[in-house]
Amino acid sequence: MARYTGPVCRQCRREGDKLFLKGDKCFSEKCPVEKRGFPPGQHGRDQRRGQSEYGMQLREKQKVRRMYGVMEKQFHRYYKEAARGKGVTGELLLQILERRLDNVVYRMGFAASRPEARQMVNHGHFLVNGRKTDIPSYSVREGDEIELKSGSRDMPRILEMAERASTQGTPEWVEVDWERRKGRVLRLPEREDVDMPIEEHLIVEMYSR
Ligand code: SF4
Repeated sequence: MARYTGPVCRQCRREGDKLFLKGDKCFSEKCPVEKRGFPPGQHGRDQRRGQSEYGMQLREKQKVRRMYGVMEKQFHRYYKEAARGKGVTGELLLQILERRLDNVVYRMGFAASRPEARQMVNHGHFLVNGRKTDIPSYSVREGDEIELKSGSRDMPRILEMAERASTQGTPEWVEVDWERRKGRVLRLPEREDVDMPIEEHLIVEMYSR
């Protein structure tokens, strides 16, 4: 499956926001967005001035797309699915993104960033309801159980994540049993569960032009 392979921090600088794509490094003062909070490139500093309405909508869409690590085509598919659903399109779009298996693995605290979670899923470390699932875009349902497969439970990275789990909370819509290396989706995520600064109405406005 296609994915962005360019410089990671450049994406955050482009959006002028921290997208938290590098786990722990994102909280250090070396984060390029903290040091240089303007878009990359020769004319980066001038780009934010006088942005058009469309420009703002486009940037918001790109920001969210990059945050979740989704390519354009798939993101548009998600939008169309949300637009067909019953409810507020922007909120449904965020729910679809949050339900991705890589995001859920990240939300449960098995990985420090979405890209790391995606890689772990790709490498086949997780079972969903007892079945090996290595598709990051897999959409979880209420009641789904996500667990590390037996050979992956004591990987050094997992031991590290287990140690910090006590200091980090998990969102209300999931629960994690670290002893059993297992998490459960208690309910589907709602708008208020998404704690990032996202203006989803801009994305909907862009696609409905
Ligand atoms: Fe890089 Fe993380 Fe800072 Fe983004 S938030 S610029 S990924 S260090």
